[in-house]
Amino acid sequence: MRSIKKSQAAFARASQLMPGGVNSPVRAFKNVGGDPLFIKKGKNQYITDIDDNTYIDYVLSWGPLVLGHADDYVIDQLKSAAERGTSYGAPTELETQLAEDIQKIVPSMEMMRMVSSGTEATMSAIRLARGYTHRDKIVKFIGNYHGHSDSLLVDAGSGLATFGINTSPGVPDEFALDTYTVPYNDIPAIEQLFAQHGKEISCIIVEPVAGNMGVIPGTMDFLKTLRRLTTDNGALLIFDEVMSGFRAGYHGVQGLTGIVPDLTTLGKVIGGGLPVGAFGGRRDIMEEITPEGKIYHAGTLSGNPLAMTAGISTIHQLNPDVYVAMDKKVTRLTAGIKAAADKHGVPVTVHHVGTMWSYFFNPGPVNNFDDVNQSDVAFFARFFKELLNQGIYTAPSQYETNFLSTKHTDADIERTIAAFDAAFDVVTAHD
Ligand SMILES: *Cc1c(COP(=O)(O)O)cnc(C)c1O
Repeated sequence: MRSIKKSQAAFARASQLMPGGVNSPVRAFKNVGGDPLFIKKGKNQYITDIDDNTYIDYVLSWGPLVLGHADDYVIDQLKSAAERGTSYGAPTELETQLAEDIQKIVPSMEMMRMVSSGTEATMSAIRLARGYTHRDKIVKFIGNYHGHSDSLLVDAGSGLATFGINTSPGVPDEFALDTYTVPYNDIPAIEQLFAQHGKEISCIIVEPVAGNMGVIPGTMDFLKTLRRLTTDNGALLIFDEVMSGFRAGYHGVQGLTGIVPDLTTLGKVIGGGLPVGAFGGRRDIMEEITPEGKIYHAGTLSGNPLAMTAGISTIHQLNPDVYVAMDKKVTRLTAGIKAAADKHGVPVTVHHVGTMWSYFFNPGPVNNFDDVNQSDVAFFARFFKELLNQGIYTAPSQYETNFLSTKHTDADIERTIAAFDAAFDVVTAHD
């Protein structure tokens, strides 16, 4: 039997000093009623806790580790970069290198700025959109998550959804009032909002494939409608690809759909496991940023040389073929999960786009946040714990996404499907 005694002791100790014992809420496993695992190391597709249990990891630091843990090349590059210094507060060629690499793969980002998190990227993109359009209102979709800045913490996914919170105390009412929220994939609702308020709206920010309420793809018609409405009303379209960038596909959702946003935010994979975000897009908009223009943006550690090195050495190992291979494995995995659930008579809806995948204990269809809320989260909690017993580390919430790395093998996929099957055996036997 798996022991987690050391993790439990570590959690008690951490809880004395950090609210909930963690530095980001979903890590606490609170909603699945468990004790979080404290991790001592990761290598490739595996993660090992401080009690020496090893798991196949599908969380992958919540997305960034597309090459798995401690990729040999990334680590070599980081070691030599560290020896040259960890931060200068002056320009380096590394920043330009990463920007050029990103620009080649996401060409709509004609210019960009590096930051240190996805939250900073979206917050800065929103300020830019407001400054550029001279309008205050923004539009976001219910269940989409764009980090934890004030304007965007309304009807958000991820941790807020996991813990059933609409908005956070501490967000001034006026901020929330400037944020219109609309159901995801609801074309009539967004058309109606623009018919009434189109000329006040600075921007729409959207996860073009949602990943913070489980995986829910934006439909082609929905995304096209957003492009048309923003263009017609002088508003900007921001694709928040912090998660979907280098995940839904090599070129992000904009590559999959051919829909070109005005601004894009990235994070997660472009930092290869170090803290990085970026926002960028149309040159005429980006040139409004200080010191070219007047819209303020800054950061002591923005473009940090270690973070840039991790990003560059990650992206240099990626290409379209790598994504075809990963997509094949995720397709096999999600089909196997569906078959195992069907065999046990458990209603499930599985979604995947590229390397992002999730399963809802819900007969479906699952196209928006209300649909996700029909899922059986009590069953999810029991099932999640049993997957851990089977050596599989997945996202500890019905509202989060699982991922794949280039290191996961076909054998891992088959082992994981067998583990799902065994977990269904155990959990349905309780019913
Ligand atoms: C993770 C995420 C963010 C926030 O990024 P952080 O690095 O956690 O601040 C923003 N938008 C999306 C779509 C995300 O998935």
